[in-house]
Amino acid sequence: MGQEKISVVIPVYNEEQTLNRLFERLTPVMESLNRDYEIILVDDGSTDNSLDIMLRHIGDRIKIVELTKNYGQHAAVFAGFENSTGGIVITMDADLQNPPEEIPRLVMTMENGNYEVVGTVRRSRKDSIFRKIPSRIVNGITRRITGVNLNDWGCMLRAYKRHVVEFMVESQEHSTFIPALATSFAKDITEIEVAHEQRFAGESKYSLAKLISLQFDLVTSFSDFPLRLMLYLGFLFAVLGVGFGVVLMIARLYFGALWAAEGVFTLFAVLFFFVGAQFLAFGLMGEYVGRIYEEVKKRPPYTIRRIHQD
Ligand code: UDP
Ligand code: MG
Repeated sequence: MGQEKISVVIPVYNEEQTLNRLFERLTPVMESLNRDYEIILVDDGSTDNSLDIMLRHIGDRIKIVELTKNYGQHAAVFAGFENSTGGIVITMDADLQNPPEEIPRLVMTMENGNYEVVGTVRRSRKDSIFRKIPSRIVNGITRRITGVNLNDWGCMLRAYKRHVVEFMVESQEHSTFIPALATSFAKDITEIEVAHEQRFAGESKYSLAKLISLQFDLVTSFSDFPLRLMLYLGFLFAVLGVGFGVVLMIARLYFGALWAAEGVFTLFAVLFFFVGAQFLAFGLMGEYVGRIYEEVKKRPPYTIRRIHQD
């Protein structure tokens, strides 16, 4: 195994309270590896003093990518990817919930096992129950749609081989969930257990709404199931409408006009049919709109104001 350079990519959004501590812990770990490395911090449009603090730490190993506004964690990581050069790229959060001390083990696992992606499972996760339950649901759904059996998708302390990172950057699918996207380009994937800590300071930048939006992104960009669902439902309704109509007609012949409430029921049957047909039409249209959307998505998913380096 050659001594590949290691890039550490860290998205930062209003983390002024944790940054100094992050450098204090991360730098010795990286130095202890005794190999070439770089730390790329991506300022995701912070509105506090994060950028100033980061600029104070700038050095030949530390580079800062300043985004023009807040684009979200995953877009920020992409901006970091694009500006990284290491043969092994590690992502991690700025809040010290992922201990930087785990990085050497991550690198070792990757090199010894010749893996393309090394994920992590958070041992005794230190988050609130309101943060854990949605994660459990996300993990389940992600397992289903990617078909890759990893236990913990949410932990961003992960290592990727250079080529996987390049594929992700090239794929231009910038709005998506990076741990899931990586699995579409890699075969040799594994997971190791890592410690998890309380957030060092500040609070989680993920509200329930942001989590839902992330999940929606995940489902719509990895499968067209929602569109299909609409199509299936439309079809089902239409068939039920027709069936209902037939049943009514037969019953009408047996029980007479009074039973059929002077055609009101029949009206319902007709209505069901048309509602169903409409869903079907919407579904079909959705399918096309979805495809067009895929095509036009080419707008840049983030914009870089400046890259600060020595
Ligand atoms: N983050 C970001 N942009 C955002 C939200 C979060 O760059 O819009 C960063 C944040 O600074 C942190 C990481 O993404 O380094 C994970 O965020 P957080 O700790 O709030 O998420 P949680 O641990 O609750 O999943
Ligand atoms: Mg966190």
